[in-house]
Amino acid sequence: MQIKQALSHARSQLGASESPHLDAELLLAYVLGKPREYLITWPETVLEESEQQAFLQLLQQRISGYPIAYLIGTKGFWNFDLKVTADVLVPRPETELLVEIILKHLDTKKHLVADLGTGSGAIALALASERPEWQIVATDSSQAALNLAGENAKNLQLKNIEFRRGSWTAALNGKNLDAIVSNPPYIDKADMHLKQGDLRYEPVQALVAEEQGLADLRQIAAEALDNLKPGGILLMEHGYQQGEAVRHLLAQSGYNEIQTYRDLAGLERATLARR
Ligand code: GLN
Repeated sequence: MQIKQALSHARSQLGASESPHLDAELLLAYVLGKPREYLITWPETVLEESEQQAFLQLLQQRISGYPIAYLIGTKGFWNFDLKVTADVLVPRPETELLVEIILKHLDTKKHLVADLGTGSGAIALALASERPEWQIVATDSSQAALNLAGENAKNLQLKNIEFRRGSWTAALNGKNLDAIVSNPPYIDKADMHLKQGDLRYEPVQALVAEEQGLADLRQIAAEALDNLKPGGILLMEHGYQQGEAVRHLLAQSGYNEIQTYRDLAGLERATLARR
């Protein structure tokens, strides 16, 4: 089987994926240990038997919905590649919005910023790389996630980041933070999307929250008050239909300057508030 035949076979099988072309190329490039451009430059190269077997096996897993990032072990976020495993949520492009908002709200002086539920470390590492002057604390309740995030920090040679195990603010010990950012679980457990596509394979504790998905957002809002300095900011990602509920719970907790931001799809995706 030639490269171009393998790709066209894969594309025809990946009809249920949102990106059959990209998926096919990512899997084959991964199997061959080459960059994607190689596939375009050498379409007539014949795969070794072992490469073909490995490719077809990965293709089967992808067809069954297993996330591409778990299969190839990496996902692009901000301007780097992160190692990812099934222990963490696959970083989403819309989460880059949170990084942009924090960068806009704090100057480049020394600041202390926490990322709660860091998972692969995506938000924390993007902030640490953009602002070497800042000190970042990244927490997670999962040791497997912290190990992975630590590995990502090491690969990116980022030193201004510290990892701590604990649920939400538990590991912060009342620090005087300039900002707290989080992409917590916010999907309602009855949401039918959980039974479809890639979400079926992602860690449920990173996706699903009680109270129609609002429980962790509410808890973080309450806890963060004890860890932010006066005027410090809290920024949380949430579901596109949760903007109003999140603004309401932040107001009830006593925050000011509450403002919701839309993602590139025009959907309400993150809300910022000031202590
Ligand atoms: N944005 C993700 C999704 O809807 C959910 C991430 C999360 O729960 N924090 O697929």
